[in-house]
Amino acid sequence: MTDVQRSLVLVKPDGVRRGLSGEILRRIEAKGYALAAVELRDATPELLAEHYAEHEGKPFYAPLVEFMLSGPVLAVVIEGQRCIEGFRSLAGATDPTVAAPGTIRGDLGRDWGLAVQQNLVHGSDSEESAAREIGIWFPQL
Ligand code: GDP
Ligand code: MG
Repeated sequence: MTDVQRSLVLVKPDGVRRGLSGEILRRIEAKGYALAAVELRDATPELLAEHYAEHEGKPFYAPLVEFMLSGPVLAVVIEGQRCIEGFRSLAGATDPTVAAPGTIRGDLGRDWGLAVQQNLVHGSDSEESAAREIGIWFPQL
């Protein structure tokens, strides 16, 4: 039985600004996942309202959207067996201060004392989210 999945990964504006896009793609490829699409994009409020619909109404929602509009993001579709769970594991915990060393957030992120956790990457959290998010960012795929 094959379980080849696709997942939507975003290098968030902090990662792009800090010049970490290459390092993050390197880790994805070193893990063995394929890059199915890579595109530097400016998010829009409409796109982010769809992407982060589950977080609407939460206290960090407005600062999160503002942060995601603060610069370009690198939108990436990765592919491989169980890559949804696998990339979440590579990314580490949401809070970069406590994300385990060895993970993207644990090795490269920290708390900057800002209103939203600037944690370098987004990764889809389920097959359903992945299909939905890939449809938002790459409707042509
Ligand atoms: P993820 O799946 O690990 O990215 O985390 P979530 O889906 O729960 O949250 C989406 C994004 O919102 C996170 O990656 C953070 O950038 C931000 N965020 C989530 N929870 C909090 C929080 O409690 N406080 C703040 N300031 N930001 C948060
Ligand atoms: Mg999430």
